[in-house]
Amino acid sequence: MFPTNLLFLVHTALLTTSYAAFLNVRDDETLIAGASLRAWNDLNTTIGGRLHVGEPFEKACFSTFNGNPINPDASACSALQQNYTNPLFRVQQFGAYMLPQWETCQATGDGCLLDSSNPSNPVAFTGVNCQNGNVPPFYIDVQTVSDIQAALKFSRATGVRLSVKNHGHDYKGRSSGKNTLSLWVQNLEASKGGTFTEDVYNFADQHNVTWIGGYHQTIGTGWVLGGGHSILSPVYGLGVDRVVQFKVVTPDGVYRTANECENSDLFWALRGGGGSAFGVVVESTHKVEPQLTLQAAIIRFPANSSNLFPWYNLTVEHSLRWAQNGWGGHIVGPTLIHVTPNLNASQAQVDMQAAIDYAVANGGTGIIDTLPSWNAFFLKYVTSAQAAVGPELMLGTRLISTELFNSTTGKQQLSNAIKDVLSFASPYIVAGTPFLMNQYQQVTSHIQAFRDITPGSGAYFNEGDVYEPDHEESYWGTENYKRLLSVKKKYDPHQSPHMLAVCWVEWGQ
Ligand SMILES: Cc1cc2nc3c(=O)[nH]c(=O)nc-3n(C[C@H](O)[C@H](O)[C@H](O)COP(=O)(O)OP(=O)(O)OC[C@H]3O[C@@H](n4cnc5c(N)ncnc54)[C@H](O)[C@@H]3O)c2cc1C
Repeated sequence: MFPTNLLFLVHTALLTTSYAAFLNVRDDETLIAGASLRAWNDLNTTIGGRLHVGEPFEKACFSTFNGNPINPDASACSALQQNYTNPLFRVQQFGAYMLPQWETCQATGDGCLLDSSNPSNPVAFTGVNCQNGNVPPFYIDVQTVSDIQAALKFSRATGVRLSVKNHGHDYKGRSSGKNTLSLWVQNLEASKGGTFTEDVYNFADQHNVTWIGGYHQTIGTGWVLGGGHSILSPVYGLGVDRVVQFKVVTPDGVYRTANECENSDLFWALRGGGGSAFGVVVESTHKVEPQLTLQAAIIRFPANSSNLFPWYNLTVEHSLRWAQNGWGGHIVGPTLIHVTPNLNASQAQVDMQAAIDYAVANGGTGIIDTLPSWNAFFLKYVTSAQAAVGPELMLGTRLISTELFNSTTGKQQLSNAIKDVLSFASPYIVAGTPFLMNQYQQVTSHIQAFRDITPGSGAYFNEGDVYEPDHEESYWGTENYKRLLSVKKKYDPHQSPHMLAVCWVEWGQ
């Protein structure tokens, strides 16, 4: 990390014109985060003063920042403590990530986190040094295509790496990066590129159509770039199956349209190839469906030490038929929320009866609720059941092939693998850095049971294990990966030191 006083200096420098005199930095060639003060200032001028200093959003609670004494801001601290797990609050702050471990440098423990189980817990911030960790020291509040082009040019000239952040949901930390220049695209051109999922749902609803998207209010563009599953995907496909066109600034600085006819290789790579490796997406166009009537199954019961494993057995038993009947959803411990557009209410009741009976027998409830639209379902059930943000969580995934659900042996293998995970992964993994490294290893080893019973299958890139073994094969397939690399080389001919993701290991960055 560069010295704190310089971080502060540049912060002011970038927001004022008389930085050198005020800050007593006489030498424009002073190196800060990999570039000279002059280069940063030129960049700031080029982009109309929208270069900002990136800091952990928890900083307001601390009295030491990067080793130097600072004054805590009591009202800002109180606001963020009250909203620590509120996605609509976090998403507005550049320095906040939905999975806060990605604000920290996990190898060293440098960071600035509160106690997510009790954000007011003074132990987390009293006498503790708040550090930038993995929060980029500078970011551009990207609003135009030319902002992106200026950043690419700056990166090529200085060697400063770029990272791209939209709403910061990434489970793999691809949108933060120590000493990177971040392109924060959330405010991009009146929110074309930075739109929240819930806003798209609302907009579609107002126009009497259904957009197929993720299970959270604030997921961003990374959703479709990495695959994009929806609980309507069993019927309507993944996000990548439904996108019609991207407009994107590729790493060579060219603003391009990518669809089936134009730059079709790029269009293919953007649909799942991985984050920002192929450029900065400014706009995406998606197919929509008519307004849908949905049957929702809402089933839950109080879990105890003996009723969870038989419940998972039951869901394994019925999952294939449910999928064939259009059901998609989530099962989180003793709670199942599924929807289908393909059945009427009485058919849905019959299909889910075994699960409802089990819940009721265990002191719970189970209903079929008919909703007039996806948005009605989303507002009624998803906003209160969506995945948590604020605590440090980590995921591993495995795609389970249909064959496994089709045989008694396969179902038994799957149930056993679930049993192995239950003691470890329910309800969520919560830990504080630097112990997270150990937690990642445990995720890797527990997911191994699922890898063992699904040879030849893969894992979901957006929600996969950070240490996924043989990740090229698992996330893309080796042949696809080779093709992705060749597309990358075509649109990033300078092999530039930016655009993290799929190719960064091969290119030695
Ligand atoms: C609470 C929660 C719920 C989730 N639910 C679902 C779900 O229902 N279905 C599902 O499939 N996934 C889900 N995910 C995973 C989610 O799809 C990924 O985390 C996705 O990467 C988030 O995109 P983002 O733009 O919000 O994140 P960011 O962290 O901002 O970015 C993620 C990646 O995309 C890149 N990126 C973002 N915007 C752009 C852009 N405009 N141009 C180029 N690159 C860009 C970033 O560089 C980074 O590599 C969920 C994640 C969380 C935390």
